[in-house]
Amino acid sequence: MTAPFVVLKDIAKRWNGQLGVEGVSLEIAEGSFVALLGPSGCGKSTTLRLLSGLEIPDEGQILIAGQDVTTSAASDRNLSMVFQSYALFPHLSVAENVMFGLKVRRVPKPERLEKLRRALEITGLLGYEARKPGELSGGQRQRVALARAIVAGKPVCLMDEPLSNLDAKLRNSVRKDIKKLQQDLGITVVYVTHDQTEAMSMADMVVLMKDGRIQQVGTPQQLYSEPANTFVAEFVGAPP
Ligand code: ADP
Ligand code: MG
Repeated sequence: MTAPFVVLKDIAKRWNGQLGVEGVSLEIAEGSFVALLGPSGCGKSTTLRLLSGLEIPDEGQILIAGQDVTTSAASDRNLSMVFQSYALFPHLSVAENVMFGLKVRRVPKPERLEKLRRALEITGLLGYEARKPGELSGGQRQRVALARAIVAGKPVCLMDEPLSNLDAKLRNSVRKDIKKLQQDLGITVVYVTHDQTEAMSMADMVVLMKDGRIQQVGTPQQLYSEPANTFVAEFVGAPP
């Protein structure tokens, strides 16, 4: 096996004694789809924020592509992010929001427009190019955030419950789109969800957490057929 692309080594994060995560160690292969799974408050978002650089760990080390990025700024980590809270520019149109990063990187306009068209097609947003985020529903805004992450072309994409504001039908189709895109582009996705069906159906590797600690890392099949403890078995609905 080639060297892991993303590595967390014994990461801990606390706030005034409040535990975020502890003893989190993880190796993520390039091009894989990894789901961070577990109940609310188990430390999924904290782990993702530590990976992204939005939080700096109290202990441990983070490597991306062999580089120590433990204390690097988010902008120096070569990754894109999709969060529940969209983080769109309110004064920019859908097209401008999606192409923002490409423009900053001076990608030529025809290429920008082609990437925009493809991303909007995938996310079902063709025809919404000129709208402002304030003129969109929550679900549409989330799809703009997805489209923006898609066109960014970064090797790693971090997603925090990106489908949670979508209705069930849309969630299903966007889920497939995310998965297909991840495979087509060969990007590494770290995907936070509390929904075990989502994790089990999308991920190559599932990281199940509880109370700030990893309970088990494995393929969906491994978690199901060889659960490490009763918590894992119950969470994934494995037979007793
Ligand atoms: P999850 O995403 O799995 O629901 P989080 O990673 O958001 O869980 O939270 C893990 C724990 O860390 C929770 O107990 C939460 O209250 C705590 N936590 C997260 N962020 C902060 C913060 N900024 N200040 C204090 N406690 C926090
Ligand atoms: Mg969370």
